[in-house]
Amino acid sequence: MRAVREELGPEGRVRIDANGAWNVDEAERAVHALAEFDLEYIEQPCAAVEELAELRERIAYLDIAIAADESVRKADDPLRVARAGAADLLVIKAQPLGGVHAALDIVAQAGLPAVVSSALDTSIGLSMGVALAAALPELDYDCGLGTASLFLADVTASPLVARGGALPLERPRPSAAELDRVAADADRRDWWLDRLRRCYAALELTRG
Ligand SMILES: [Mg+2]
Repeated sequence: MRAVREELGPEGRVRIDANGAWNVDEAERAVHALAEFDLEYIEQPCAAVEELAELRERIAYLDIAIAADESVRKADDPLRVARAGAADLLVIKAQPLGGVHAALDIVAQAGLPAVVSSALDTSIGLSMGVALAAALPELDYDCGLGTASLFLADVTASPLVARGGALPLERPRPSAAELDRVAADADRRDWWLDRLRRCYAALELTRG
């Protein structure tokens, strides 16, 4: 963290993501140790909503924001973390939350600032994140959507790569050649098709 802060200088906005790995005591200790580096926020320091709420109370005097990611994305009730006052902001990913409209609904109901992030999607998926970010009435935090550059290949000939820190609001088209180049083998394709069928059936059930 010290090296990152030195590299970015005082202007750099630094975030850390613990992926829920700490218990409350460990998280509190980490927050104290990291306080000098002036973090923009700490993402999912603990796994449970109750732990986040307790941590947030314990470190309230430090003025370090807590972001919830897994508590939104992997929870049966994505709004519980907001209702419990357990986070200062939410990390929002369009795909796992059911798409742009569902994600917009969650942000509106939560009443908390949102960071729109990718789940390491192709440029097609990233463009959904950009659409979500553009549709939010307020966007106080930088998005985490500049991940196309982490991929060696994409499914489009014109990947959604950030320039000057900004992504264009456009809908890239998949290209047959690129799709061929990254095609899965037959077993893997069948596995995905089977998974899609199971998910679709589950969604039908939920909709009643
Ligand atoms: Mg995260």
